[in-house]
Amino acid sequence: MKAKPAVPGYDGPRKTALESIRLFCIGCMGGSFALVSECPSVGCAFHAYRSGVIEAGASRRLLKIIRAYCDGCALGGDVAGCKAGKIYLDLSPCPIWPFRSGRSPYYSAEAREQRRARAISLFGSATQEADSGPGFHGNATTGTTGHPAASGR
Ligand code: SF4
Ligand code: SF4
Repeated sequence: MKAKPAVPGYDGPRKTALESIRLFCIGCMGGSFALVSECPSVGCAFHAYRSGVIEAGASRRLLKIIRAYCDGCALGGDVAGCKAGKIYLDLSPCPIWPFRSGRSPYYSAEAREQRRARAISLFGSATQEADSGPGFHGNATTGTTGHPAASGR
């Protein structure tokens, strides 16, 4: 029986925003974990997150960071209309597709508000919490591999 998609329109597995960025980076570097570690593009919005952890001093607002990245990637700025969540020929779905609009599709508006209130009570501001979900095992062959600029197909 075909597995239910994590998100309608998305052919990849459910991942957290941070895991999705990590997978995106692995795809960006052709599946090489070593090249991701050594990535010299310090100006890339994902650089501080490429290893699957948030580097010291980096923003925790992962959904905003993903949205900003997608704003720069989507053809004509049409982030919502990006079709890269689907498998296309030999290309895997873009791992960050579910988060491209700056929201997690895995939580209702009510749940998001509860999480925001909890973050404010814990941290004093609505910093982005890492959403819970299946763990990332760091294996590009079992997860999706990103294709950083493949929108509008
Ligand atoms: S997406 Fe950015 S940070 Fe990640 S590997 Fe590619 S250039 Fe480096
Ligand atoms: S291809 Fe990926 S990075 Fe580009 S706009 Fe679509 S979801 Fe964002």
